[in-house]
Amino acid sequence: MPETASPAEIDYAAELIRAGRLVAFPTETVYGLGANALDAEAVARIYAVKRRPVTSPLIVHAASIEMAKSLVAEWPEGAERLAQRFWPGPLTLVLKKQSAIPDIVTAGLATVAVRMPAHPVSLALIRAARLPVAAPSANRFTELSPTTADHVRESLGSEVDLILNGGPCQVGIESTVLSLAGREPVLLRPGIIARMVLEAIIGPVATLADCGSGPHPSPGLHPRHYSPRTPLYLATNGELPDENQGRGRGLYLRHSNAPSRANPAITTRQMPQSAADYGAALYEALHQADRGNYNWIAVDLPPGTPEWEAIQDRLQRAATK
Ligand code: AMP
Ligand code: MG
Repeated sequence: MPETASPAEIDYAAELIRAGRLVAFPTETVYGLGANALDAEAVARIYAVKRRPVTSPLIVHAASIEMAKSLVAEWPEGAERLAQRFWPGPLTLVLKKQSAIPDIVTAGLATVAVRMPAHPVSLALIRAARLPVAAPSANRFTELSPTTADHVRESLGSEVDLILNGGPCQVGIESTVLSLAGREPVLLRPGIIARMVLEAIIGPVATLADCGSGPHPSPGLHPRHYSPRTPLYLATNGELPDENQGRGRGLYLRHSNAPSRANPAITTRQMPQSAADYGAALYEALHQADRGNYNWIAVDLPPGTPEWEAIQDRLQRAATK
């Protein structure tokens, strides 16, 4: 199977999108399950295949800043600055939506999440379809996001009309989601583009928890998410949770200087030193754990410094029971 979809395959995929069908495709973050964002019935199929509650809004993918602007009612100066700096790339902006976007895409919210992905296959697909493409990650709801075409096949298989291959995802965790729809910018989901990097461009960025009472600005922030099937425990200072000792085979994702294990029932995998490399390796390591029939996974929690915010977030959610 070729590593990357051919131009002919991409054109065929674009025809499927235009016909209201579902196409899984690579982005630089994770693989997406895409449909025509302006076709409510096609988008409804995304929710059905993923078993995703309709209260969880989708990200709409655009091939240019122009296309993104056509989806929103307001394009504030901060959006322009961030798009110029980070697009195409792993940053999603939440903005007031245009009425042409069906309610099912945004879970009935008056805002829409938009992003211009950097993977050449996703850009070529959206350009060929000449349509914005709504796409969540191509996995069942709450499960681990796919970072290879094989992961998509294993999770959704025959329920998708076509899976485009684009090799392993370079970023490996989901995009940073930033709302610019309210009075102050709010970080809805941390990602590899870190909060302080955004703040250097647009000033202070609030956290969802700082927003106090009132309606939740972002549905779909389920505490359990991004989870492997194998139970995942967080380890601190290389201490594996007591309950794991002696309970079958374990996979230990070791961070930098944590002590190594001599226990033959425990397989140790050394994780990368930098947050970016760690993000790129994390889901593949967790998918491998699921395939390898381990009884448990223990992961050293990386440092609490700002550049690790997104990795910490994913690990905390993956570990939530
Ligand atoms: P996913 O596509 O599953 O990787 O996740 C999409 C993320 O974007 C979730 O965290 C959503 O809650 C968030 N999101 C999408 N649309 C909106 C919106 N209109 N307002 C706030 N958050 C959104
Ligand atoms: Mg997802």
